[in-house]
Amino acid sequence: MPRPLEALIHVDALLHNLQCARTHAPDARVWAVVKANAYGHGIERVFEGLRGADGFALLDIAEAQRLRQLDWRGPILLLEGVFEPRDLEWCSRLGLWHVVHCDEQIDWLAQHKTEWPHRVFLKMNTGMNRLGFTPAAFRSAWARLSALTQVDEVSLITHFSDADAPSGIDQQAQAFLSTCADLSGERSLCNSAALLRHAQDPAIRGDWVRPGVMLYGASPDYPEHDAAHWKLEPAMTLHSELIAVQHLQAGDTVGYGSLFTADRPMRLGVVACGYADGYPRHAPSGTPVLIDGVRVPLIGRVSMDMITVDLSAAPEAQVGSEATLWGRGPQINGQATLLPIDEVAHHCGTVGYELMCAVSQRVPVEVLRPHHG
Ligand SMILES: *Cc1c(COP(=O)(O)O)cnc(C)c1O
Repeated sequence: MPRPLEALIHVDALLHNLQCARTHAPDARVWAVVKANAYGHGIERVFEGLRGADGFALLDIAEAQRLRQLDWRGPILLLEGVFEPRDLEWCSRLGLWHVVHCDEQIDWLAQHKTEWPHRVFLKMNTGMNRLGFTPAAFRSAWARLSALTQVDEVSLITHFSDADAPSGIDQQAQAFLSTCADLSGERSLCNSAALLRHAQDPAIRGDWVRPGVMLYGASPDYPEHDAAHWKLEPAMTLHSELIAVQHLQAGDTVGYGSLFTADRPMRLGVVACGYADGYPRHAPSGTPVLIDGVRVPLIGRVSMDMITVDLSAAPEAQVGSEATLWGRGPQINGQATLLPIDEVAHHCGTVGYELMCAVSQRVPVEVLRPHHG
């Protein structure tokens, strides 16, 4: 028997979350953001659940190629644009739309020979200060780009730094909308947080929204709102089993560095999942794990292949009991159990994004399709 650790991809959750994105912007088109191999879920594995989107947004030409191999004929947007002039040949060949965020990318386009002019998204830096033209430089970049024979339609795009936070998007949105006011072209502003929190305003929704993390069922603004608040469902479950149970006496210690000391006799469970699987090594004692659907705390240090949990709350647990690291747990008395990835991430001082992206190659993945009939 293989090691019991496995990741499950829930196609029904992807379908549901995409629909949820649509209800927040019914009049906009949706880019499903699938960068970083679909946030660790696997582009091929999420395709079936997300192919109802209007386009896919990502960073790597190799990932765009994989979408074309899946026979996706619709729009694909490179969110960072091209990294060197030769990439433009791939854009022409694969029909990729690309962000243009700096003068060098305009220079390369001006030198590019193509039969088909490119659809580009000109990026404005409205305060994030990573990519894009400042409002002061934007209009001349737009004019220069629009004049190129290599360019078809120019759309306008910006990205918010604080859409998940109380400080919000007002200043950035204002800078973007006022600078673009009399420029033609479709607009795209919203990531998941902006879509969920700020897209009541049609000007903010724009023509294209760009949800990422919400499609995978994590909340972009946890702990202020959890995924259940936004009616999102986890697209990934990471689950395993107990492979050993230890009976500790008071004074016994657990694992590397003897980080945990039992203060009473207790049962300890050993779960087949460790940092080599992508479970964060810095997960502290108290990080929740479900054992047969019952919440128990992690104790001691996360090791490469195993973690250890306190079984006091799960007296029935034994070797072979199901361990849910995040996602959907087994039913208890007909009731679904759930361990939100955001909650695990929060214990570890990070965000759901990082955990889902980090699930490692060695973890086998199974795609669960919705039942028909
Ligand atoms: C990653 C990314 C998104 C999606 O962000 P989420 O917070 O995952 O919704 C949207 N736009 C751009 C430019 C991005 O890089």
